Amino acid sequence: MQTLFSIRRCLVITTAGVLALAACDAFAARVSRLTPPSELFASGEADPVIARFLPGQLFDLQATVQPDAGQTITNFAFYVDNSPVTNRNAETMARTSIVTETGPTDTCIDASGKTTGASGCKLAANLPSNTAVVSQRAYSKSLPGVHTFKVVAAQGNGSLISATGNFEVVGIDRGGATAKNIIILLGDGMGAAHRTAGRIMAKGYTQGKAKGRLAMDTFPYGGMVMTASLNSIVTDSAPGMQNYVSGNKANNNQEGVFPDDTLDAFDNPRVEYLSEYLHMLQGKSLGVVTTADVFDATPAANAVHTSARGNGTGIVDQFLDDRDRTGLTVLMGGGRKWFLPNASNSVSPQPANGSQRRSANDYVLPDDVVNGWDAARGELDPERDLIGDFQAAGFAYAPDKTALDAAFVGRVPSKLLGLFAYSNMNVSYDKINARRGDSTVVDAFGFPDQPMLDEMTDKALQVLSKNPNGFVAMIEGASIDKQAHLMDSDRWVLEVLEFDRAVAVAKSFAERHPDTLVIVTADHECSGAAIIGASTATAAELEATPNAGKTVVGTYDAAGFPKYTIGDDGFPSTLQIDHKLLIGYGANADRWETWMPNAFPTKDTQQPFPPAESPADPTVRNEDVGYLVTGQVPGDQAVHTATDIPLSAVGRGASLFHGVFDNTDVFFMLGQAAVGGSH
Ligand SMILES: [Zn+2]
Repeated sequence: MQTLFSIRRCLVITTAGVLALAACDAFAARVSRLTPPSELFASGEADPVIARFLPGQLFDLQATVQPDAGQTITNFAFYVDNSPVTNRNAETMARTSIVTETGPTDTCIDASGKTTGASGCKLAANLPSNTAVVSQRAYSKSLPGVHTFKVVAAQGNGSLISATGNFEVVGIDRGGATAKNIIILLGDGMGAAHRTAGRIMAKGYTQGKAKGRLAMDTFPYGGMVMTASLNSIVTDSAPGMQNYVSGNKANNNQEGVFPDDTLDAFDNPRVEYLSEYLHMLQGKSLGVVTTADVFDATPAANAVHTSARGNGTGIVDQFLDDRDRTGLTVLMGGGRKWFLPNASNSVSPQPANGSQRRSANDYVLPDDVVNGWDAARGELDPERDLIGDFQAAGFAYAPDKTALDAAFVGRVPSKLLGLFAYSNMNVSYDKINARRGDSTVVDAFGFPDQPMLDEMTDKALQVLSKNPNGFVAMIEGASIDKQAHLMDSDRWVLEVLEFDRAVAVAKSFAERHPDTLVIVTADHECSGAAIIGASTATAAELEATPNAGKTVVGTYDAAGFPKYTIGDDGFPSTLQIDHKLLIGYGANADRWETWMPNAFPTKDTQQPFPPAESPADPTVRNEDVGYLVTGQVPGDQAVHTATDIPLSAVGRGASLFHGVFDNTDVFFMLGQAAVGGSH
């Protein structure tokens, strides 16, 4: 916190014409933000270089410039290595723009000074008046090495304001055997403990030896990943994913963009995704498959550029409307609520068709983004029938597993959209129980016929492999994270098993197509999960004493080796075994623990029609029935942690992955494998 003495005070005339005291700093001309982010700008240190790009990868240059009191910014230019960056020169396909706030009317002014009136001009309220955000869209540089860049802005009185930063272009070694296909399997929130728990349950141990390996355990290469985002040691899923596929750090909640000072969530400075880079360079397709709502952070952070991961309507629109930039060919998961027309533009009361489309989380892009990136402008269109628009664009549509299977009878569709729930799909515990005929959970959610992740993966790879130029596929096991947040141990361990069955499908594909690279990783750890041991009680004893708490936690020798029986469907025939696996949490909120499976999943607030049977959250689930375990984080859910997570790799280029590396390093390894190849 600043003290009174640390702020210089000045007399100024306010817009109301009165004399007032204000902080002088706010009225001293300066560049308050320079993008891409650099330590050279932030602290004057040239090292470490924060922003890195592949040769030719597009990104926006942007600066927030605060003029002296009473002055306005009248002109600006960006320089890279002291050469001016000009429109449409040999190395850029950029346009320039100037965005200023001029009192009550926002205006966008392009480089020629004419007002365009597009949206996206409103600046953050804490900025002094006449602050300008100046942009050079869709710049790129091919020459490897560290480059300096500079913004120079002129104010009306002719004085200049400038600032300098740096970025690096990471070169690609040529001449190796390239990876035509890249499959990224993303177990959301899957730390080392989640993987180990999955192995113990699925394979069992005897006399200290694992009786088998998960598919992901069999990958020959791998390492540990540092997962921090641009603004925190603890990332959320948006930068957690986008850092892998852009090579750069984003702020929490942001995907495919750098932070900025405008309020528009879709006009942030962009960085090109792996999908866009390889679609433009090599004609590859993009496939996105998830057990979450498809608008969720992990799927969106492969194709959609926004600073607000919650803006569902705009996010799903951009998936379709910018498919020519990303090569989007397959999109599968939940999230139908964003695709259904909402004539009332309101979700209270909830429209009967389940739609949650709204203008408030949609977008219209300003001219400079549209022109610089050749992006679709977008439209505020809650009434849009987005499923119909996908179909008109050539996508086969599957609303359930039966329709998904039918779409592949006698042919393989060229493009595929699958939306199997209003929001997040049900988890494997409930889907498998339904297939076994002993659960009504999926019926209560209204979607009794949902595919498993391995089934979606198989279909996605069939469609994507029709492209002779190859593909990028991101396949997410989303509810490892979601159920770990809820500290529903049995449900997330089963999510690891469902995810690993998808890993096996991808591994088999790579064996049949040796020019394929497969990596399995997570975006971050979730919940500080720890395998604390096994129950000393039988299933019947746990059922009889759900508040047994610590008295039944067998540690060390008393844990022994929990033994589950695996059914033909690949999942335990029951979780209520004697001496079951027990999980503790190091990043937890309060919870009532019974050590027993919860009959109903805990409430998912994303669902337009959440079933009444779902407990509200872990602080009330089994309240007064179980044993109260108090946590050390606020709120009612466990949180992500900063712990490094494992990454495993197999196939063409897998040997590039070894040691301990940053999540942004993964992007450059993927780029090397796809463009330069490996030896
Ligand atoms: Zn999470």
